[in-house]
Amino acid sequence: MGKEKKAGNVYVPNREIFQRINYLYQAAHMVLKNCPSNTELVRFYMQSIKTMAKRQVLRLDPSIKRNICKKCFMLLVPGISASVRFKAKQEKRCVIRCLECNTVKCFIHSKDYKLWGQQPEAWMDQSHTNGKGPG
Ligand SMILES: [Zn+2]
Repeated sequence: MGKEKKAGNVYVPNREIFQRINYLYQAAHMVLKNCPSNTELVRFYMQSIKTMAKRQVLRLDPSIKRNICKKCFMLLVPGISASVRFKAKQEKRCVIRCLECNTVKCFIHSKDYKLWGQQPEAWMDQSHTNGKGPG
């Protein structure tokens, strides 16, 4: 008769995982930006993210998923580790090629889809911008 009730016990196991994923994602960006030749470390981070998400059956944020090479797990950043092309005839089609293994990804632009190259900057700005102007 001394059984505890589970109700009311708010346990959020995923929060920690998401924090870890976020951390790894930022770390991967940092490595790629500061030391682009260290692709092994970048891949390790990205692969860890995927493995973690898979194990916990989490749905990765589309912006993260989109930036991982499905073949070699490289973090895809335009101009650094990936090339991005827009098909002339199909404006909404975006082709991303992993410069590591040449795997190609195709995406279709949606209305609220931001310019691809701005995304890494977007999260980096968050840590800097504190009511401070650009200059
Ligand atoms: Zn690749």
